[in-house]
Parts: sequence; C-alpha cells; structure tokens
Amino acid sequence: MSDTDSLAAKLAHAQQEAQELRAELEETNRGVLALYAELDSQADQLRLATELKSRFLAYMSHEFRTPINSIRSIARLLIDRVDGPLTEEQAKQVEFIQQNATEFAEMVDDLLDLAKVEAGRVEISPAWFEMVDLFSALRGMFKPVLTNPAVNLVFEEPQDIPKLFTDDRKLSQILRNFISNALKFTAKGEVRVAARLEGPGHITFSVADTGIGIAPEYHGAIFQDFAQVKSPLQKRLRGTGLGLSLSKKLAELLGGTVGLSSEPGKGSVFSVTIPLQLEGAGAP
Ligand code: ADP
Repeated sequence: MSDTDSLAAKLAHAQQEAQELRAELEETNRGVLALYAELDSQADQLRLATELKSRFLAYMSHEFRTPINSIRSIARLLIDRVDGPLTEEQAKQVEFIQQNATEFAEMVDDLLDLAKVEAGRVEISPAWFEMVDLFSALRGMFKPVLTNPAVNLVFEEPQDIPKLFTDDRKLSQILRNFISNALKFTAKGEVRVAARLEGPGHITFSVADTGIGIAPEYHGAIFQDFAQVKSPLQKRLRGTGLGLSLSKKLAELLGGTVGLSSEPGKGSVFSVTIPLQLEGAGAP
C-alpha cells in the first residue's frame, strides 16, 4: 500500500469514528433533553401538589375555626355557670372540652400559618425595635404558663445589641415556638433565652434547655412538617409537629436560618440567626 493510500484509509477511519461519536453524542443529547422534559413535568406536578396541599390546608383550617370557637365559647359559658350550677364531675368534663378545643384551635392556627407561608401569602412588615422590648414582651407572655416550679425561664440581659430592623412579630413567633417546646420537654432545670451578635450584621437568638434532648438521627428531619420524635414523653404531650417547620419557614422569610444542637438526656439549643436589618425592606 502506498503512503497516500494508508493516509486515506486512516482519514476514512477517523471520519467514521467521528461520525459514530457524533451519533452517540446526539443520542445522549436526546436522552438528556427527554430527562429534562420529564424533570420539568415532575416539577410541575410537585408545584401543583404543593399548591393543592396549601389550598386544602388553608380552606380546612379556615372552616374549622368557626365551630371550634363556638365550642370554646359554650364551654366558657358552662364553666362560668351562666345557665346554672354544675356538679364537680360535670365541671371537670367541661374543662376537659375547653382544654381540648383550645389545643385544637392552636393546631388549626399553625396549619393556617403554614399554608399561608407556603402559598407565599405572608406579609413581612419590618420596623425598628429594641431587643429588650422583645424579651420583656416574651417574658410577660410566658409568666402565666410557668406552672412547673422546678424549671426557671431566664432571659439573659442583651449586651451591646443595636436596634433591629425586621418583623418583630415573626421573630417573636419563632422564639415562642422554641420556648414553649423547651418548657414542654424540660422537667427540671432551666430554659435560657439569649441573643448575641454574629458575624457582620447578623444576630443569633438561642433557646437552651436542660430537657430530654433529641437523638442525633432526628436532627435533620425535625424542622420538616409533621416531624415528631418517638419517645414516651412525646406520646403524653400533644402537638402537631408543625411548630418547628413553621419557625424555619418564618426564619427564611426574615433572611435567616434555624439551627439545633442537642444531646439526649442533657438538653437542646434551638437557635435562629437573622440579619440585624432585613434587606430589601426599605431600611434607612
Ligand atoms: P410539636 O407541636 O409536636 O411540638 P414541633 O415542630 O414544635 O411540633 O416539634 C417537633 C418535635 O421536636 C416535638 O414533637 C419534639 O419531639 C421535638 N422537640 C422540639 N423541641 C424540643 C426540645 N426543646 N426538646 C426535646 N424535643 C423537642
């Protein structure tokens, strides 16, 4: 074979290889495009499912409110003996109705809040406020529910914390969730609420308890909807498993994150870190 012939053969071979490669690439491309299309349609389905879930939750919670409120008011009338006396046993039973209706109302409120957040219908209204005022409002809110003398609720005096520009009601809702959980799962010791500056322009609020703690395998899932830890105490205490997921979503709306460190038997620290000034909210 001459040199030219062998060169031509090599060229033909290379051309064929290139063609095969191109065909293979085209096929892969088509596969990738088909996968993308499938992903897109799955994402659409997911979006639709989330929207339907939010709409269902919002509708259901809204519809539940009226009957729950009438149960609560009628129970109140009975407890106040407006229509005459009650026997001791009847009084106990009506109080039980009242207590359960109140718990139910709280669950419905949580569900409605969650549905609103998911549907993007929560308004953030930032304003300037002092940390001290937030802490004293929280202290006032929890005073009537501190029924266990073996647990102290401590608010650390904030040190050198400047004024904040964010939605104080949303922040308060997050902290209320953390504090009421901490009180629920702590039999003795203390629940300590503190705030410290974190990096440039951020603040971290922490709620530390000396309660039952949370096993590491639950740490990842605990901020998801309906997540509850399996424990004997959990069975005795009611809850929806929605408080923490709502807190996480509210923290994200404030431009922040939530965190948890916990050791079973020792206690837990729940925290929320947010910017001192909510960006894009017209802070001066
Ligand atoms: P729930 O309404 O059930 O309290 P949450 O979302 O607020 O819902 O909390 C989810 C679960 O996380 C609780 O049921 C509990 O098992 C666990 N948990 C939350 N906070 C604490 C805490 N401070 N100590 C121990 N367990 C906690």
